[in-house]
Amino acid sequence: MSTYTYSAGPGMLPKEVMQEIQQHLLTFEYDGISIIETSHRSESFQHVVDSLEARLRRLMHIPENYAVLWLQGGATLQFSMIPMNLRNQNRFAYVDTGVWSKKAMEDAKHFGQVDVIHPLIDEAGGMSFEPSLVQDVDYLHVTLNNTIEGTRFTNLPETTVPIIADASSNILAEHIDVERFGVIYAGAQKNIGPAGLTVIIIRRDLIQSKELPSYLDYASHVDTLFNTPSTLSMYAAERVLKWVEDQGGVEAMERLNREKSEAVYSFLEQSNVFSPLVSGERRSLTNIPFTTGDHGRDLSFQQFAIERGLLELGGHRSVGGLRASLYNAMPREGAERLVDVMRAFEEENDVSHQNI
Ligand SMILES: *Cc1c(COP(=O)(O)O)cnc(C)c1O
Repeated sequence: MSTYTYSAGPGMLPKEVMQEIQQHLLTFEYDGISIIETSHRSESFQHVVDSLEARLRRLMHIPENYAVLWLQGGATLQFSMIPMNLRNQNRFAYVDTGVWSKKAMEDAKHFGQVDVIHPLIDEAGGMSFEPSLVQDVDYLHVTLNNTIEGTRFTNLPETTVPIIADASSNILAEHIDVERFGVIYAGAQKNIGPAGLTVIIIRRDLIQSKELPSYLDYASHVDTLFNTPSTLSMYAAERVLKWVEDQGGVEAMERLNREKSEAVYSFLEQSNVFSPLVSGERRSLTNIPFTTGDHGRDLSFQQFAIERGLLELGGHRSVGGLRASLYNAMPREGAERLVDVMRAFEEENDVSHQNI
C-alpha cells in the first residue's frame, strides 16, 4: 500500500528526486564529502545556484529585468521585507482574501498605512478586485492562491502600481505571467523543495537601496550570495526543478493539477457524505477544503484515511473540517486513492444506503 501525505506544507516531493538526493548525499564534489559540508563559495555549489536560477527562469519565463533571490525566513519574512523595501509614500493596498493575506497586511502596518480591499466574486464564482480602489499607494499586494481557504484569483485587473504576489502555494503549479508583477515570492516547501528556502522574483527597477539592516535590503542579494544560504535546500530545489522540466514544465504541472483537483471536486459535488467548502471558478487547484458537516465525523474520516495510508487530511485550525493539498509532486494516483477512500467511507456512513 502506498502512503500519501496531503499536507499543506511542507508538502510531498517527488520520490525519485528524494532517492537521487539520498544516493548522492555523500558524494557531492569529492567522494565522502556531502553537499551539506560544502562551502557556499565553492565552484561546485555555484553551479547548483546557476542551474537553479536558470531552470526557474526557463520554467516561468522570467525576463532579464527581473532578479531572482534565494533567501531564508520563509514567505513570512517577505511580509515585512516588501513594505520595508518598496515604501515611498508609506501607503499600501492589500486584497484581503484570507489568513495569509491578513498576516501580510499586519506586518505591513509597521511601515505605513494599509488600504484593505475586499475581493469581488462574480456569478461564475471567479475572484477579482476593483482596480479603481487602488490609488496613491506604493503597491498592491495579492495572495494568488489561498492555501487555507482553498481559493484563487481568476482575474487580476491592471493597476497603475506594481502588483506584489504571494505565490507560496501555487508557484510552478499553474501558469503565472511574471511580467504582470513587480514581485512574486514563495516559500519553497510547497512546490519547490524542502523548507528553509524562499524565492523572490523582483523587477530590478524596484530594488532601491534603503537605509536598512543589510540582510533585509533586497539590494544586498542581487546577483550574489550575500551570506550562507540554505545550501541543502537549494541543492534539492535544483533537482526538483529539473524534475518539473522533465515532466514537461509548468504547463504539464497545471494540466496534472487540474485533473487531480477535478477528480476530487467532482466526487465531493455528488457525494452524500462529503461536500466542498468552495464552489465556482475561484476553487484552488492545489488546496481543497471539504467537510462531512460534522466535526466528529470529520475526525473519524481522518482516522479512517490514516489507516489506509492517507496522511494529513485535517483542515487548518482556523477553518476546521478537512483539507487535501495536491501539490505538483502528488501523483494522479494520490488523488484517485483519496477519492476511493472517501467512497469507501461514504459507503460505511451514508444513511441513504443503509437498510432501515
Ligand atoms: C505557507 C504559506 C505562507 C507561509 O510560508 P512560510 O514559508 O512558512 O513563512 C505564506 N503565504 C502562503 C500563501 C502560504 O501558503
